[in-house]
Amino acid sequence: MTDHSMIRVRGARENNLKNVSLDLPKHQITVFTGVSGSGKSSLVFDTIAAEAQRQLNETFTRFVQGFLPSYGQPDFDRIENLSSPIVIDQKRVGGGSRSTVGTFTELLTDLRGLYSRHAQPSAGLPVAYSFNAAQGMCPECEGIGKTVQLRLDRFLDESKSLAEGAILHPEFKVGGWIWKIYAESGLFDPQKPIVKYSKTERQNLIEGLPEGEERKVTFGGFAYQYEGLSERFARMYLTKDAASMSERKRAVFEQFVDSQTCPLCHGARLNQAALRSLLNGKNIAELCEMEAHHLLEFLKDLPGKELQFEMTFLLGRLEQLVGIGLGYLSLDRETVTLSGGESQRLKMIRHLGSSLTEMLYILDEPSVGLHPSDVARLNDLLRELRDKGNTVLVVEHDPDVIAIADHVVDIGPGAGTHGGEIVYQGNLAGLRRSGTLTGRFLTQQLPARKSVRQARSWLSVKGASTNNLKDIDVDFPEAVLTVVTGVSGAGKSTLVFDEFLTRYPDAIVIDQSRVAANVRSTPATYTGIMDEIRKLFARASGAPASLFSFNSEGSCPNCKGLGVTYTDLAFMEGVTSTCEVCGGKRFREDVLHHHLRGKSISDVLEMTVEEALNFFKEKKIRVVIEAMSEVGLGYLTLGQPLSTLSGGEGQRLKLAMELHKEGSIYVMDEPTTGLHLSNIGLLMKIIDRLVDAGNTVILIEHQLDVIRQADWLVDLGPGSGKAGGQVVFAGPPAELHRSRESALAEYV
Ligand code: ADP
Ligand code: ADP
Ligand code: ZN
Ligand code: ZN
Repeated sequence: MTDHSMIRVRGARENNLKNVSLDLPKHQITVFTGVSGSGKSSLVFDTIAAEAQRQLNETFTRFVQGFLPSYGQPDFDRIENLSSPIVIDQKRVGGGSRSTVGTFTELLTDLRGLYSRHAQPSAGLPVAYSFNAAQGMCPECEGIGKTVQLRLDRFLDESKSLAEGAILHPEFKVGGWIWKIYAESGLFDPQKPIVKYSKTERQNLIEGLPEGEERKVTFGGFAYQYEGLSERFARMYLTKDAASMSERKRAVFEQFVDSQTCPLCHGARLNQAALRSLLNGKNIAELCEMEAHHLLEFLKDLPGKELQFEMTFLLGRLEQLVGIGLGYLSLDRETVTLSGGESQRLKMIRHLGSSLTEMLYILDEPSVGLHPSDVARLNDLLRELRDKGNTVLVVEHDPDVIAIADHVVDIGPGAGTHGGEIVYQGNLAGLRRSGTLTGRFLTQQLPARKSVRQARSWLSVKGASTNNLKDIDVDFPEAVLTVVTGVSGAGKSTLVFDEFLTRYPDAIVIDQSRVAANVRSTPATYTGIMDEIRKLFARASGAPASLFSFNSEGSCPNCKGLGVTYTDLAFMEGVTSTCEVCGGKRFREDVLHHHLRGKSISDVLEMTVEEALNFFKEKKIRVVIEAMSEVGLGYLTLGQPLSTLSGGEGQRLKLAMELHKEGSIYVMDEPTTGLHLSNIGLLMKIIDRLVDAGNTVILIEHQLDVIRQADWLVDLGPGSGKAGGQVVFAGPPAELHRSRESALAEYV
């Protein structure tokens, strides 16, 4: 008889996994630990989740399969006893302006039902309460609640020429490819200030060419369609793209648009008929504006046993929303404005409501964005998922989440080629004794900073009142490390991104968003050393440098230098496969005959940073690869597509590029996301170097080791949403114990 109590994985080899075999207990919580880049995602997401999804898809008819993304089989020998997978990741909930907390959690559906049955005076009439339906939406804003327009005065500095940077939006910056579309279009003199443009020129620049006229602008081997600034801006930002904007992008975006509350519905999105129907004196839009915990109180106060009974499901869900620490959200909050962590917790709510059992839940760092005091509630939810009869797999670094594991799988010992093995599996007590990096770091803390650095001067934010901020003044010390803390929803992101960054726009944001600008980007191209490497090859071989670029003539003609080919399968998601012509080497056969110290260009791109350190003695290259090795990326290869880097790896790559600068302001949002406890020490060393070189660093962070290392803390609170938005403590960590209000005092 076969044993179905374990998921059995044999011979897993995706990415860096070294033929890994292991058994995972079903109906338990298994936490996967290990340093960043050790192979956790390769095992949990790229192997287990991917295979479970693939097998599930195979159970559908061919017709249905046609509508599902298709997955190749991951690299392994055997996997047995999988269940249906549900991956709860931190990807933002899309759906644009029409997706709100209320629509996503389906709470709004229930509220609408309640209104159509009980509201006065409309009960019984066919009044629609949905802003996504033609009969319910406000006719003026079509259910969006606001109107958005480009602000030309902020977008263009007309006293300047294109070459002097007349276009102020950062994505149109001088020298960038978008800028070239204008500067190299031949339509304008790039040296002429915009004020001196003729009427036609101005029109061509802003609105685009007249109907029927077209122009292609060619550079770098590509032809781009010319369009006017406002057309391009609208296409880049005003359409569906807003749904997928990073926080940073959105912050920039908002500087260039005027968004007005809809004059007809005042943001309520609904038409007047719907807004006139009241329940206990309030219309449905007013309910949606309330923070969830207040809405819960309001609904519980509605009279009538039957009504209360009817709302059982609605109240239960709202209680879960509050229980997971999101009680400060209102149902009308657009899901695109939620952070990754908030989105993930919202997705959990959706699944907790489900009565399916025997599922395989897979979560990626659910503790992200959670204050230590919120983690306990997260743990309750994970246990609840398990106790409903599901198997729960969690990738986590937070010791408080690792603490509730029934089973721990520690992957390591190092990152990249130095990782990919199971270094420990078993219970938590065993992990502590195991002597693995994770085991050791679980029992030790980074010490507090011995002496704090003093501010050189202060960067002031006065009268901050965006979102929930209560008209506060905050001074950020220059040339030291400031950490902004507070429970989730306290106002940290609002203070740093909406208030600080708009006053100090040259601050450099180092976030975990993808670094890749295009599919061909690699660490070598991103850091600029590819140009140096090509020159070396040209010098050694006598062939032109351009031959050694996989973006131009030297590239494999079949895959155009990508190393992979993409097969479009009509309405199925396409399939990527290694290029048959170059075998993934990206270059033409003849290019590979040229050598530099015995290596072809493709050999060089396959080198890890560490290997490259032994190969290159050229200064310009060494500065970069030494910095990469210092930030702990020595295991990356020079040619690894940037799209395969994890958020944490990408962030450290960005940091490596900054190591030799001084006098800048850096802003980072939860830089420890995806970082193992042992990587945090490394990150702090890098940050210290930046500060010691005279830079100002401002972090939003929950990780206690980081908080203890701060020179200066700004703790926001005391609560979330309306109950937050105030500075409860500002000062060096050593003085925190004097604060009676700060929830942080007891943790640090
Ligand atoms: P973790 O989740 O533990 O941070 P990953 O599983 O994401 O680690 O990565 C393990 C190693 O595999 C890293 O060196 C990473 O750079 C590499 N890697 C991940 N995805 C790919 C890929 N698609 N192609 C090549 N290398 C990859
Ligand atoms: P934190 O970063 O401390 O978790 P935030 O700054 O994200 O907190 O949020 C502070 C408050 O502002 C919360 O009540 C949140 O719901 C609200 N808020 C944040 N962003 C937006 C937004 N784009 N639209 C409306 N409310 C927002
Ligand atoms: Zn409207
Ligand atoms: Zn090829």
